[in-house]
Amino acid sequence: MTAGLLDGTATAKAIKDELRAEIEALRARGVRPGLGVVLAGDNPASAVYVRNKTRACDDLGIHHETALFAATTTTEEVAAKVTEYARRGDIHGILVQLPLPAGVDAGRVLALVDPAKDVDGFHPENLGRLVQKRPRFVPCTPAGILELLERHGIAVAGKRAVVLGRSDIVGKPMALLLMHADATVTVCHSRTRDLPKVTREGDILVAAIGRPGFVRAEHVKPGAVVIDVGINRVEKEEEARDLLDEVRLADFARKGTALVGDVHAPSVRDVASALTPVPGGVGPLTIAMLMKNTVKAARLGA
Ligand code: NDP
Repeated sequence: MTAGLLDGTATAKAIKDELRAEIEALRARGVRPGLGVVLAGDNPASAVYVRNKTRACDDLGIHHETALFAATTTTEEVAAKVTEYARRGDIHGILVQLPLPAGVDAGRVLALVDPAKDVDGFHPENLGRLVQKRPRFVPCTPAGILELLERHGIAVAGKRAVVLGRSDIVGKPMALLLMHADATVTVCHSRTRDLPKVTREGDILVAAIGRPGFVRAEHVKPGAVVIDVGINRVEKEEEARDLLDEVRLADFARKGTALVGDVHAPSVRDVASALTPVPGGVGPLTIAMLMKNTVKAARLGA
């Protein structure tokens, strides 16, 4: 079997194209959706994520502004900006790019995000609403994965779904969404015993652990749909040789670096029925859902 590729870039484009009409209708009423971003510290990956998100805003005509803070910033400084965004009528969505520097209390900052502008869906109020199956803003990555499954006609109801990873931003909300879509869900983590046996039970397997190429054929049920959330940078040639096909390996040879997922695509491809690529899978969907949440915030707040 060779797994079909679940094209996240194309699905993300479809979602964004659907948003254009809604953005136009809002603008006809004098409302331009606006996103306020906080970027603190000098994490290069965070800077790339913010750039990709603000580019998507530009593409759709969503106003955006980014407040930059040094790695030495304080909780108070970041909190003041988030409070300002919360007050302003032209900012409908607030995005605090994680991770925040060590000296900033992330819990305190995230709690200051107005729940009505919490387009990442990380505020306790929005997470609580999600638990109660009356969601307002759903975290973008798991929400995007559900859209990807739906739009590819992959039924979830009644399936066994296994989520590998239990973070607040991916694993936990992913498990809730799959459960609400009537899958039977198992959540695995670093303390799970006999992991391959558990992950092999999944008709749908979502890998979100941040370990390059960790999920191998032995972890995957034949015919399973495998969603690779991981975004990892490899710099060692040996690792690159193990994980990349020839075309990407040539690219790696030029750049000395490459992005890979949590799934060992060369072996899993032969076992799974469908697989998301990295890059071009879950990443673009996350951004599309952020745009969707921002437009929703503008609609609800206008
Ligand atoms: P976290 O580091 O917050 O969580 C990782 C989870 O994986 C933890 O629950 C941890 O278990 C579990 N884990 C780690 N190692 C193992 C292991 N060897 N076996 C079993 N479980 C393990 O990561 P995130 O959820 O924030 O992100 C996961 C990945 O997804 C990262 O690569 C990140 O870059 C990527 N990501 C991609 C996005 C996208 O848009 N595509 C968006 C967000 C994240 P435990 O709880 O026991 O420690």
